[in-house]
Amino acid sequence: MHTFEFLRPPDPAAAIAAAAQSKTAQQGADVRFIGGGTTLIDLMKLNVETPNRVLDINRLPFDKIEPTPDGGLKIGATVRNSDLAYHPTVQRDYSVLTQALLQGASAQIRNMATVGGNLLQRTRCVYFRDTAMACNKREPGSGCPAITGHNRTLAILGASDHCIATNPSDMCVAMAALEATIHIQGSKGTRAVAFGDFHLLPGDTPQRESVLEPGDLITHVTLSPPISGSKHLYLKLRDRASYEFALASAAVVLTIVGGNIQRARIALGGVGTKPWRSPEAEVALTGNAANDATFSKAAEAALRDAKPQTENRFKVELAKRCLIHALRTAAAS
Ligand SMILES: Cc1cc2nc3c(=O)[nH]c(=O)nc-3n(C[C@H](O)[C@H](O)[C@H](O)COP(=O)(O)OP(=O)(O)OC[C@H]3O[C@@H](n4cnc5c(N)ncnc54)[C@H](O)[C@@H]3O)c2cc1C
Ligand code: SF4
Repeated sequence: MHTFEFLRPPDPAAAIAAAAQSKTAQQGADVRFIGGGTTLIDLMKLNVETPNRVLDINRLPFDKIEPTPDGGLKIGATVRNSDLAYHPTVQRDYSVLTQALLQGASAQIRNMATVGGNLLQRTRCVYFRDTAMACNKREPGSGCPAITGHNRTLAILGASDHCIATNPSDMCVAMAALEATIHIQGSKGTRAVAFGDFHLLPGDTPQRESVLEPGDLITHVTLSPPISGSKHLYLKLRDRASYEFALASAAVVLTIVGGNIQRARIALGGVGTKPWRSPEAEVALTGNAANDATFSKAAEAALRDAKPQTENRFKVELAKRCLIHALRTAAAS
């Protein structure tokens, strides 16, 4: 691993000022914040990330989970994944988030991993993590060997000719279904970004994964007030039962009245280049009977634009079955 400076900025303003000196907040950043380090340190050991300065944000005042005045929830960026998963309000009112968090990584990693770091975790594409290989995300313009190579775990939704990498986060899929808002403090002030606008599609700039600019610090995430009587479910399908990333997953938040679906929020994981909200599935569900026929139509709609690669055609059917099973289980709960 290359040498770097490790700094503990005393307050958010100092952290932002130091990070604003970076040329980019995306791949190749020369200054990086560190939360739990479970993504960043791994990638630094592999020389995929080579920041000259690492700014420890763990002592900044972003470690609280608090109610908001409107009845929602404010989650600090350095809150650990475990603390969020087991928070009583999250377990009671936003259980899709608890379920998604607890199906991610391992207990040890969840005890370290922060909310801000999870939002920005990087793809597990093997070429991205191997500096001996070409990779447009790591080195723009070098090519994408995954398109003709090992792509079994990669994306079938949102891919481009330049990158087909999957976003690997479980937490983000639940947050997409919960329509979370991400709050950012930067050198030009504060701003709030709707969850669906935070991550970027690869297009022809796969090295850009989010809207963050140099100096931008995620301070917290907010969730809207819970919908009374809503049913929450996160289903994750993977090669082994624990400590493995999703091949396909579904986050489902449903309100069902008298057997009819009044409101549906649906997101998919393991299949998209970003956490994949599916408005198509939501339209197919809303106003219709909560039964298998409706669930199948929603799954067809969600995967209609899927473009499988050489090794991952199976994901199209897997993702459909994952969503149908999640909907059926949620509706019956
Ligand atoms: C073996 C293994 C298995 C895993 N399995 C899963 C899994 O099944 N499902 C899953 O979802 N995840 C899994 N993960 C990934 C894990 O969830 C992430 O590594 C973790 O959430 C990252 O959080 P962190 O705080 O450690 O991030 P860090 O490594 O500290 O940071 C990650 C990135 O975010 C940036 N950053 C951190 N905080 C902020 C902030 N507040 N503002 C701006 N930028 C910030 C950092 O600069 C860095 O670029 C696994 C990881 C490992 C190592
Ligand atoms: S899929 Fe993306 S991350 Fe993987 S090799 Fe291609 S460009 Fe790199």
